[in-house]
Amino acid sequence: MKLLLVEDDPTISVPLAEGLTREGFTVTVASTGAAALAAAPADLVLLDLGLPDLEGRVVCQRLRERSSVPIIVVSARGEEIDRVILLELGADDYVVKPFGFRELVARIRAVTRRMASPDSTVGLTAITVGDLVIDPRTRVVTLAGVTVSLTPKEYDLLACMAVDPGAVRSREQLIHDVWDEHWWGSTKTLDVHVASLRKKLRPEMIETVRSVGYRLTEG
Ligand code: CA
Repeated sequence: MKLLLVEDDPTISVPLAEGLTREGFTVTVASTGAAALAAAPADLVLLDLGLPDLEGRVVCQRLRERSSVPIIVVSARGEEIDRVILLELGADDYVVKPFGFRELVARIRAVTRRMASPDSTVGLTAITVGDLVIDPRTRVVTLAGVTVSLTPKEYDLLACMAVDPGAVRSREQLIHDVWDEHWWGSTKTLDVHVASLRKKLRPEMIETVRSVGYRLTEG
């Protein structure tokens, strides 16, 4: 698995790259935002927000514009960041420095685990809800025949609701299934993703069931 580590501080990036290599990852280090954007495609990006040239969130947004690669954002303790904006930019998870190496590896594994591997999904058939088609094998979503570009988390959330279309999924259930216990826990996270899915699909396709959760409909 190819990991792009975007970090300008060598006292962090050098030992971290060594440790991650020992864990079996193929690590490329980029020490600037420009280098990160010029790097070869990776399977996961670990993105420091405090970069010398570009704002980390700009890098996050640009990476997201061109691929659905999972992005774990790293920020310094006390750094003022708007988590909701980060989510809207397409980050998948978030860690605060200083973080434990084990914790970070667990996060990387949790994020990548949710990116279904082709082997584990052989035999899964596409789910159709009206003119919405979700293919769990390729993670490709089409609406009226047009491919909808979703972030990994948006896909997971949609797939989670589509398992039983028309049934109400509670907020707790969705948060539990789509995020893990390390997630920063704001229920706003779920609302941000639902809002974004509504924009990308049709707003009426995701119905709010007051004080319970959400329901996927044909819209
Ligand atoms: Ca930095």
